[in-house]
Amino acid sequence: MTNTLYDALIAPHAQNEALFLTLDDGIKVSYRSFVARVGQLANVLAGTGVKPGDRVVVQAPKVMDTIALYGAALQTGAIYLPLNTAYTQTELEYFISDATPSLVVCDAKHETDFSAICGRDTQVMTLAANGSGSLSTGADACNAHFATVQRGPDDLAALLYTSGTTGRSKGAMLSHKNLLSNAQSLTDLWQITNKDRLIHALPIFHTHGLFVAMNTALLAGAQVRFMAGFDTDAIIAEIPVSTMLMGVPTFYTRLLGDPRLNSDLVGNMRLFVSGSAPLLAETHTEFENRSGHRILERYGMTETNMITSNPYHGKRLAGTVGYALPGTEVEITEDGKPVGPGEIGMIEVRGENVFQGYWNMPEKTAEELRDTGFFITGDLGVKSDDGRISIVGRQKDLIISGGYNIYPKEIEDVINDIDGVTESAVFGVAHPDFGESVLAAVVVEDPTLCAETIAAAVEPKLARFKHPRRYIITEALPRNTMGKVQKNVLRDKYH
Ligand code: ATP
Ligand code: MG
Repeated sequence: MTNTLYDALIAPHAQNEALFLTLDDGIKVSYRSFVARVGQLANVLAGTGVKPGDRVVVQAPKVMDTIALYGAALQTGAIYLPLNTAYTQTELEYFISDATPSLVVCDAKHETDFSAICGRDTQVMTLAANGSGSLSTGADACNAHFATVQRGPDDLAALLYTSGTTGRSKGAMLSHKNLLSNAQSLTDLWQITNKDRLIHALPIFHTHGLFVAMNTALLAGAQVRFMAGFDTDAIIAEIPVSTMLMGVPTFYTRLLGDPRLNSDLVGNMRLFVSGSAPLLAETHTEFENRSGHRILERYGMTETNMITSNPYHGKRLAGTVGYALPGTEVEITEDGKPVGPGEIGMIEVRGENVFQGYWNMPEKTAEELRDTGFFITGDLGVKSDDGRISIVGRQKDLIISGGYNIYPKEIEDVINDIDGVTESAVFGVAHPDFGESVLAAVVVEDPTLCAETIAAAVEPKLARFKHPRRYIITEALPRNTMGKVQKNVLRDKYH
């Protein structure tokens, strides 16, 4: 039986004695034993009645069985559906009623919550942070052999919900081919091999930590130092014996905050990758000054996997997300028509990486996925003459004031440059004459910095229509569970 992803990511390791995972408690898992565990879990899934095409919801701690369960879902032909571990009961109700899974695997402490939400057709099993629970007990008693279920390139492998930064999370249907093609592109481009050791401190319920990191490692046969979460001391301890780190921008700002980060420490490292949110040019430069490494920034989203990457060889430019990945087309459009280099427009993307549509949302799918295969990402960007993409921001965050388009990022960059400013978020609120007016929420590290001083520093640098009408000094910006700034929360609060 062929099974596109299982055959590429898991099956080749059945006899591979090399080390795959090193866990926080020092336990080491070889590829061979990982494949055996996948088989045991596949038997558990099949035993609970999970059938090909069924959704398996996983809201569980980041332990070995959570990732083995992904392999098991693939092997049984089910659709893997990981959920953010921070979701509350009300949020979970939405996901369960939308996805109608036949099995839920959750932390034991949420078992009663899930049992209350789930109907009679959904089984609930448990998996705790120490690896115990009904799932692992069940797996321990199972045979490692499982007859892999046939799945083709167009069958769904995962249903991954978007982060919910701009509204309610949407379920992105991802096929075996969507995931495999992207893993192959990234593995090639970033030259990931079985000589690599990846520091993995990202959550595994999101495209970055699950697909970008784990699919490429599995494809290449790389080692993974699998950490339950981000911890500066632990990362610093692993850097000298590792070759790669994949992180979100805050990983890098936190590492920069530690005096131990220097070029001696990173002597063995080959690649630092950043994505999921914009990496400030300042962080990029400071990281290079301290470590000698230029962080490789890439851009992607739940619906498309990765879209662009800075080059592995060649110049990694701060503030840009690089070139379209091989096999992926990126167009910048206005009213659906391509615009020239240097002009801002909607980022559209086409390729084997682009998802199959939104689960249960045919209208939204029709609005955002063109007949030509191009997906309208909702992000605004600009392409340089030589094809480098820079992200300008989300279209939903674009401010239109007095007929002018105002891009918040341009203003945020100016504010963030002021000494004593930590970060800022610029957003629009309704204005009776202008349509919208510009406001700025600013987090300061220097408590003496006031709105007047910030305004005085911004005004000479930007045209008058871009000047924020009000600066709100705030303790922290509102962020969702993925750490992304929620401008809709700011808009609602200050309307
Ligand atoms: P929702 O679609 O539910 O509102 P979301 O778009 O935040 O949530 P994700 O799919 O997790 O959900 O995030 C993708 C988005 O993250 C992209 O559309 C883009 O706005 C942003 N992003 C990803 N990588 C980068 C990057 N390198 N620079 C800037 N933004 C990035
Ligand atoms: Mg989105």
